[in-house]
Amino acid sequence: MVPITKLFCAAGLLAALLCLRCRDDPFHAELLSGARVLLTGASAGIGEQLAYRYAAYGAQMVLTARREAALREVMEKCLTLGAKKVFYLPADMSSPSEPDRVVQFAVQKLGGLDYLVLNHIGTSPFEMWGGDVEHSRWLMQVNFFSYVALASAALPALERNQGSVVVVSSLSGKIPTPFTTSYSATKFALDGFFGSLRHELMMQRKNVSITLCVLGLIDTDTALEKTRGRVFLSASPASDAALSIIRGGCSRVPELFYPWWLRHVHGLWVLLPNPRVLQSFYNYSSH
Ligand code: NAP
Repeated sequence: MVPITKLFCAAGLLAALLCLRCRDDPFHAELLSGARVLLTGASAGIGEQLAYRYAAYGAQMVLTARREAALREVMEKCLTLGAKKVFYLPADMSSPSEPDRVVQFAVQKLGGLDYLVLNHIGTSPFEMWGGDVEHSRWLMQVNFFSYVALASAALPALERNQGSVVVVSSLSGKIPTPFTTSYSATKFALDGFFGSLRHELMMQRKNVSITLCVLGLIDTDTALEKTRGRVFLSASPASDAALSIIRGGCSRVPELFYPWWLRHVHGLWVLLPNPRVLQSFYNYSSH
């Protein structure tokens, strides 16, 4: 291709991407005032930022994670930011009995449920697969089975209010990436389960939306600590990621990508998968 044609193609592609970016989404912040939200993984990282954003919109929330002191601090800040009501319940999602207990607590305290926001993750190493099958099993429980159990327990309450399930996932749940074997598997499982459930709800004319949020690298403490010196990627702000998740959930979109251009990275991968290019973003020598 002659250089001028290449230039036109690149400009055309850029313009098309920008057009897609600029499409209006039907986000109505006022719908979040008084909305009843159950938010998991709310003690740190993206979950903490989600709590502050929902609070600023005047939502009512039940926050959950394992650490009680951290949850209390987040709750107090949410109240100063404008949340109508906030409760918290410490719970460890590696225990199969916890999801039911958490949902019952939320429905009882809030008098119903509009949003179930599934965001927590168990700790996983950022390294080559070392054969720890027991850890994979445990991670499946925390990152996947507890999501399924929370959603199942919450569905009747969500159906009554035409509510929404918001599932926080990752590009590693769309494209297999190095050093994330078990984590990636749990995120792929979420895409399969909640994608299929979305079909079934629509076929049964049940008005509960499911939004899968596909995130790139975000600047949370845990993510930065794990990936420092190991990936050649820049991290996006957790607070902006939280806003994008909330907008997507409120607009009832089936899937959102943050940052927005990740959708095109994924599309390119589906059309032209190139493992060598993907691997070049990862620093193998430091392992
Ligand atoms: P994070 O900072 O590590 O926070 C994880 C949250 O989960 C904390 O509130 C933690 O609180 C809670 N948690 C951990 N183990 C738990 C357990 N056994 N039971 C219940 N809660 C537990 O994680 P993050 O980076 O904010 O990630 C949040 C979401 O974004 C995840 O779904 C992740 O996959 C997704 N994501 C993140 C990135 C990124 O680069 N940060 C990229 C793509 C996708 P306690 O310790 O108090 O339990």
